[in-house]
Amino acid sequence: MKRVLITGGAGFLGSHLCDRFIKEGFHVIAMDNLITGDLKNIEHLFKLPNFEFYHHDVSKFIHVPGELDYILHFASPASPIDYLKIPIQTLKVGSLGIHNCLGLARVKNARVLIASTSEVYGDPTVHPQPEEYWGNVNPVGPRGVYDEAKRFQEAMTMAYRTYHNLETRIVRIFNTYGPRMRLNDGRVLPAFIGQALRGEDLTMFGDGSQTRAFCYVDDLVEGIYRLLMSDYAQPVNIGNPDEITIKEFGEEIIKLTGTDQKLISLPLPTDDPKQRKPDITKAKEILGWEPKVARAEGLKITYEYFKSLPKDELFKMANHREFDKK
Ligand code: UDP
Repeated sequence: MKRVLITGGAGFLGSHLCDRFIKEGFHVIAMDNLITGDLKNIEHLFKLPNFEFYHHDVSKFIHVPGELDYILHFASPASPIDYLKIPIQTLKVGSLGIHNCLGLARVKNARVLIASTSEVYGDPTVHPQPEEYWGNVNPVGPRGVYDEAKRFQEAMTMAYRTYHNLETRIVRIFNTYGPRMRLNDGRVLPAFIGQALRGEDLTMFGDGSQTRAFCYVDDLVEGIYRLLMSDYAQPVNIGNPDEITIKEFGEEIIKLTGTDQKLISLPLPTDDPKQRKPDITKAKEILGWEPKVARAEGLKITYEYFKSLPKDELFKMANHREFDKK
């Protein structure tokens, strides 16, 4: 039985990856410090003999007994509210965390796949964004802690490949959505759906002309799985190129939820990228991958998930569990 370690395994993407690797017959070890992850996302896996959970911070030395074939580094806060509240943890997990993962991979002779992000392109001046674009990032802005951590993580991963001949893969993840997103993480989709469910107006930032392109989580997981199993070591964009303005997106959520609330405009956050859309030529050619789930379908599933949550979840503010603030 192949063995995989998934850091951030109790998070939104990490937990879906745990499900996928269990389905593929792997022994799965999930690691999470539960600052933003939630055991609810993986509690259905605890009864399985081929699933283990380590409550541990990957920024500190990691030890995993036994062999490991793959390590997927998905631990990281990943929403603008998180970066503002826990900037130092965000930097540490992208730097010390990846260093620990790469060190462990060397000892175990494991292949490493790291979760990078479209944020490495910053507020892009090239549209859509191909992997060759180097980006337009403000290192000292509010997003800098995330963007630079992820850029460092890519550099570190390539250095281990070059100098230690480690097998590495880099996925650049564009906006992704689906069940198990945190309702209060501040991202636009849970924000809008949460507001609709609470009967509040939908808070559009700026005039809503900025664009994003949203990928359903199952499509993303398929792309990541194919990349891991491929022999391609350069970064690959995985995302859905179906671009939409945030205003149009808000209108879609109003229609989907049937709310009689409206879109209101709040100030645009600092360095909010004006446009974003993946160029997925490489994923298509190298992995034979493209997204299959249309936004209308994915949004319906996600809305049903948020509706099914206990009512009090709807009114919880973003709160991070107790953690070491250093
Ligand atoms: N946004 C918005 N209202 C919200 C939250 C976000 O209009 O309540 C906008 C945000 O300004 C950005 C887009 O939606 O332009 C996507 O934001 P998100 O935080 O989901 O992800 P990002 O792609 O910016 O990292």
